[in-house]
Amino acid sequence: MTATRDLESGGSLMDDLYREVILEHYRSPRNRGELDTPTCSADGANPLCGDQIHIELILDGDEIVDLKFSGEGCSISQASASMMTEQVRGHDRDHAQAASDAFQQLMLTGEPGEFDLGDSEMLAGVAKFPARVKCASLAWKTLEQALKTDSTEPVTTDERTADHG
Ligand code: ZN
Repeated sequence: MTATRDLESGGSLMDDLYREVILEHYRSPRNRGELDTPTCSADGANPLCGDQIHIELILDGDEIVDLKFSGEGCSISQASASMMTEQVRGHDRDHAQAASDAFQQLMLTGEPGEFDLGDSEMLAGVAKFPARVKCASLAWKTLEQALKTDSTEPVTTDERTADHG
């Protein structure tokens, strides 16, 4: 596996605690798989790194009754997706949007705000590495896309292609 290499070489990307939590999500992802009867879904890609995320949701009114993700890519992208599902499953749209906003802020500042992002806060160190911010943000951008009902447009965290599509 090369996917964990970025966390294991150099040793400076994350401290040991953060790295351990991220790798644990990567190796034992939460809510990974597919739903029998999703009401909406979205695909996201981060071509710079080769990350792909597919998210399926069951929405009941504004409540995210269930969601699952699938995909492939680096450990940060997949661990972030696993962490994201834990933050939004069983909550409503507003909570999901607030969590997504808080995560974007975490990626800008490297500091957790008032909103409790749970394990996702372990990704704070990624803020120092703009290329990896795209990996960590992919799941959240894909979630936002899926929450736009009836939308199946793919999203990307690579601005160069996002501008054109
Ligand atoms: Zn990546």
